[in-house]
Amino acid sequence: MHERKRLLIGGDEARGEPGEPPLVSVNPATGEVNHEVEAAGSATVDAAAHDADRAARQPSWRDMLPMQRARILFGIADRMEGQGDTLARLQMLENGKVWSECAKQVKSAAATFRYYGAVCETTGSEITPARGDYLSMSVYEPYGVVAAITPWNSPLTMEAQKIAPALAAGNAVVLKPSEVTPSTGLAVGRIALEAGLPPGILNVLPGTGQAVGAALVAHSLVRMVSFTGGTESGRRIAVAAANKLMPVALELGGKSPHIVFADADIDAAVAAVADGIFEGSGQSCVAGSRLFVQRAVHDRVVAGLVERARALKLDLPDVPGAQMGPLATFAHRDKVEGMVEAARAAGARILAGGGRPEAAPLARGAYYLPTVIGGIDNSAGIARQEIFGPVLCVIPFDTEDDLVAQANDSAFGLAAGIWTSDYKRAWRVARALQAGTVWINTYKQLSVATPFGGFKDSGIGREKGVAGMRLYQQPKGIYFGMD
Ligand code: NAD
Repeated sequence: MHERKRLLIGGDEARGEPGEPPLVSVNPATGEVNHEVEAAGSATVDAAAHDADRAARQPSWRDMLPMQRARILFGIADRMEGQGDTLARLQMLENGKVWSECAKQVKSAAATFRYYGAVCETTGSEITPARGDYLSMSVYEPYGVVAAITPWNSPLTMEAQKIAPALAAGNAVVLKPSEVTPSTGLAVGRIALEAGLPPGILNVLPGTGQAVGAALVAHSLVRMVSFTGGTESGRRIAVAAANKLMPVALELGGKSPHIVFADADIDAAVAAVADGIFEGSGQSCVAGSRLFVQRAVHDRVVAGLVERARALKLDLPDVPGAQMGPLATFAHRDKVEGMVEAARAAGARILAGGGRPEAAPLARGAYYLPTVIGGIDNSAGIARQEIFGPVLCVIPFDTEDDLVAQANDSAFGLAAGIWTSDYKRAWRVARALQAGTVWINTYKQLSVATPFGGFKDSGIGREKGVAGMRLYQQPKGIYFGMD
């Protein structure tokens, strides 16, 4: 009999919805069942939304001074670090990320709570320039109940990125974690209570997107939704939100171009391109999955990448030195495998990987080899769809104009990387690329202080930074007559 976790509503453990089957958490590195988690449904969503709404309107939360809210956020950060090994292990068991990355993500999530504690305590309202005999100002108020809906690739950091600013802004939050990774959110919910967050201000409802996510988005008491996940789910949420005239923040998929000009530091570029796609087994929204290489250095760059792909240490996630773990689920591994096979059938050349590791113990897990694909152009299906796996598509280019046109020829616009020693070109290309984040001579450098989000099908709105708290507030104008 496996452990069965419960929901968190109104500060208490709550039973799942009768009739909703529990979520079964499977370790993708071994195929073994970790535990079960009771699942919410539409009645539980209704109960949690009412609880959150009541809690949000209590003076104990509504009128809490920003410095007091900040102290709670700092307390959450301290406790997350204190329970860092437990949190990192929960994530590792559920999505298969290697230990070093999970441990790093606990620290990053704690830092996000600290950052928004500081933002909450230090960001004020504004006096606006008067145009007559009055005093006018802009104050910022919470929406009330905010729904946070998250994916499985990095639950620790993605959930902190939503919960911390939404709480700093004075809202109550109902978190719907991914059905694949429900446990870290439940653990952070309990930590928040220990840190003094009033009951009902953070509720955690594991369950499916259809039964729980959609019901939350549609609920009349939920006044804002912050979503990270796939573009098609994001589109459905945006349509449902439009019917309620409700704001949404959507962080969606990507097919980010990673660009190497011939004048770049090639060794540094090759290392960054490999990390940019293979870290986290490619399950990163900003994975640099389309490599554009200037033709003069194409063969050298590809040779370097193939060597790195073959040398990468795939292992069980808790083995010291493991560089790549499995994909998060067996179904996702099969999907990635199917996409590579379709590319092969369409004439692409598999330069490295292109299959599962066959030796024990990895053969038991949802592993897929780091894969490099050539012999395609930017119109190939594999160069256009998000794969969300360790699969790099290599496409040569000749001129800067040709590069910019190809890099922008994508439905997505999340991120991009440029390697060149010509700083004027780096600036020109960075400004010409349709992407929410551009890295120059670095890749996947992320900071909680810098806005993050996507152009085009990669999303709406920007998380992080001081504005990341404003995302969860609405401005109100107030006038005092002075004549
Ligand atoms: P997904 O869209 O399938 O699911 C994400 C979350 O949404 C889950 O909790 C799911 O249960 C829920 N959901 C699904 N359909 C819903 C609906 N109709 N209404 C409400 N909720 C719904 O995505 P995933 O497979 O979990 O994650 C992978 C995707 O997430 C990739 O496309 C990746 O690029 C994207 N992602 C984006 C970012 C970013 O910051 N831009 C970060 C990480 C992942």
